[in-house]
Amino acid sequence: MDTNDAPVTLVAGGAGFIGSHLCQALLERGEHVVCLDNLQTSRATNVDDLIGHPRFTFVKADVIEKLPATVTALTRRITRVYNLACAASPPHYQADPEHTMLTCVVGTDHLLRLAEQSGARFLLTSTSEVYGDPEVHPQREDYRGAVSCTGPRACYDEGKRAAEAMALDFARLGRADVRVARIFNTYGPRMHPDDGRVVSNFICQALTGDTITVYGDGSQTRSFCYVSDLVDGLIRLMDSETVGSEPVNLGNPNEMTVSDLVTRIVALTGTTAQVDYHPLPVDDPRRRKPDITRAQTMLGWAPLVPLEEGLSRTCTWFAQELRQADRMPLL
Ligand code: UDP
Repeated sequence: MDTNDAPVTLVAGGAGFIGSHLCQALLERGEHVVCLDNLQTSRATNVDDLIGHPRFTFVKADVIEKLPATVTALTRRITRVYNLACAASPPHYQADPEHTMLTCVVGTDHLLRLAEQSGARFLLTSTSEVYGDPEVHPQREDYRGAVSCTGPRACYDEGKRAAEAMALDFARLGRADVRVARIFNTYGPRMHPDDGRVVSNFICQALTGDTITVYGDGSQTRSFCYVSDLVDGLIRLMDSETVGSEPVNLGNPNEMTVSDLVTRIVALTGTTAQVDYHPLPVDDPRRRKPDITRAQTMLGWAPLVPLEEGLSRTCTWFAQELRQADRMPLL
């Protein structure tokens, strides 16, 4: 980190899929960025290109522990804190559920306290999972959700709900200036090939010729947002002077079934991979689509990248990744 007095933006979870794109976009805006990450589900290679940048610092640490001295030493300079720290794919966040819950609750508390001490604006990345398996469609921010507090997704869903509750209390008590983004399914380059989520799984399976694994009958829906659109939404939300601490949905309202997604990826890759059907995971939401009216009106934001273009860029990236890993893509 340079020794001058320039304001610093802290990105917790900055080496993850979304976090690394955010760090890059913030550097392009001229910000000084400290990326804090435990590299549990993220990868140092995501920020390889940023290391060595004069305004970028990487700190390996876990937000559930006391924040490291390299970060607290900057308290006076930190003006913005983005909290993206948490495993986000169901197999990853369920692999160590206690750690997931602690990351959401204890990690958010540590970062909120840092924001309080530094007078920084704090942005929590929450999730569409706060709506659970929704009875209301599409989901607006005032819908309170249908979440199971005892199921295998609860460590993440309830963890994020608790994080929202805590962030809103800090805001109500005047302890921090808070923004809350509820992120819907996002995809793009730098997803982990073994992330376990549907877009990365299907693309990697299509490229390698492995069987495409559909869970359930494929009729469940999701709405997929390309990562650059999402990052633009996060930055607009952080910049906004008017939106306040009320949660804002960020996602692409272009809803489709999982079977539709298979069809598109098969068409795009020309794969001959077979499709195989597996049991639907417990508490898997049946439908999901964001109502983005609030983001449109308050932030002037809407996703711009069409699915075909986003999937095509993502396929190209995965093909390179798999080739480098000697996983023999067909393309
Ligand atoms: N899914 C699937 N095959 C896979 C991975 C996921 O059919 O290989 C389904 C999953 O059951 C869910 C949807 O795709 O209905 C989206 O799953 P993902 O894990 O990407 O995100 P979620 O929205 O469930 O957090």
